[in-house]
Amino acid sequence: MTFDLDTLQFATLSSRISYVLVFALLALRQRDDVYILHWLLALIFSILGSLIMFSRPMDDILPPVFGMVVYGLFGASLALSWSGLRRFHELPVHAPSVLVLAVLPGLVYGCGMGSGLWPRLCLALVFLACSLPTGLALFECLRAQSRDRLWSQYFAIGSFSVYFMLFVLSVVILAATDQPMMSVESAKISLTIDQIAGILIHFAYLAMAGERSNLRLARLSQRDPLTRLFNRRGLSSRLSHVSIAGSAVLLADIDHFKAVNDRLGHAAGDEVLAQFAVLMSGVLRKTDLGARWGGEEFLAVLPATSAAEALAIAERLRFAAAAAPVAVGGTLLPVTVSIGVAVVDETEADIGPATARADAALYRAKAGGRNRVCGLDLAPSVADDGAAASPRRPPGALSPLAS
Ligand code: GH3
Ligand code: MG
Ligand code: MG
Repeated sequence: MTFDLDTLQFATLSSRISYVLVFALLALRQRDDVYILHWLLALIFSILGSLIMFSRPMDDILPPVFGMVVYGLFGASLALSWSGLRRFHELPVHAPSVLVLAVLPGLVYGCGMGSGLWPRLCLALVFLACSLPTGLALFECLRAQSRDRLWSQYFAIGSFSVYFMLFVLSVVILAATDQPMMSVESAKISLTIDQIAGILIHFAYLAMAGERSNLRLARLSQRDPLTRLFNRRGLSSRLSHVSIAGSAVLLADIDHFKAVNDRLGHAAGDEVLAQFAVLMSGVLRKTDLGARWGGEEFLAVLPATSAAEALAIAERLRFAAAAAPVAVGGTLLPVTVSIGVAVVDETEADIGPATARADAALYRAKAGGRNRVCGLDLAPSVADDGAAASPRRPPGALSPLAS
């Protein structure tokens, strides 16, 4: 299947102009996302370069000044694609480097042709200069992919690889063969490849921005902003991917927490919550899931954990909290926690019933004097004895009377 030059030129321009409209709208709407502006300018420079180039016969070597402008515009387009990718990946952009990469293709052509250098060599240098920002853009995508994978970025990787290989191949053909430099046939092939790769790159940019926003929103909606632990939605989303058979559940509630707010203010209360979350994450194992269940209540799901193991972990958490007073406003505030423990029955499909039992056990721990671990449905010999070996209330711990 072959296309005539007019059709290819029309397709190249019309697809790029469509993308300009979309990117311009996004740039207006998302003013903080500077990378969109870089990609928009890259598109505009590429359209201008194409328009000027299409105004001349495709099998004619470009005069020095004319070529300088055209290749300068293409160079600027590639350099801005690279800088846009760096901004997208939240990396700094070194403006002088962008400028050098942008002007290099036009400069080598203008200077080379102006000083009487062999036109074939001038053109090879242009392609070599174009391969620099393209290679850097490819490197940027590959490096980012190893940190924070975006599936849509593979389209950009594929397209930049095609452009990079096309430039390198052009350098090799110009330097090592006597193929004609400019011909209608080679222009048709380049325009067809450019058409496909260009559409894919700009599609990839849009898809990458959308994919990353969705991932970030999903992450935000599943985390509690104060403690960075999962919230209920996040926990249930994580649990939908794992089997809860044989799991245990801990429900921990900070004792007399209201007194912290009342005595030291809400900000101090927030600090206690945040520090308790760090402490809990430290006590839990890698496979355990910790969540802020609400207010000053924290839930942990311990996969493949027996009642005895769960009680031991709960006891470790209770002890760690009692042993580590929270530093707020220059004072050390003793904090204790009561914990209810339950195991998921093999007939249960979700953690709901076990959480209800852990809640009942927690109620009993509170009624029993706080700073203790209880497990209603667990063997009595271990259930209520968890806190027996250590003091129920460390000296100075908060009590309703202390306020
Ligand atoms: P108990 O030992 O029986 O658990 O008593 P408590 O004071 O810990 O429990 P209570 O339910 O009476 O009070 C919980 C308090 O937690 C009331 C609420 O204002 C406070 N609280 C809930 N969420 C937050 C929060 O995000 N930040 C702060 N600072 N306080 C919160
Ligand atoms: Mg509570
Ligand atoms: Mg409480």
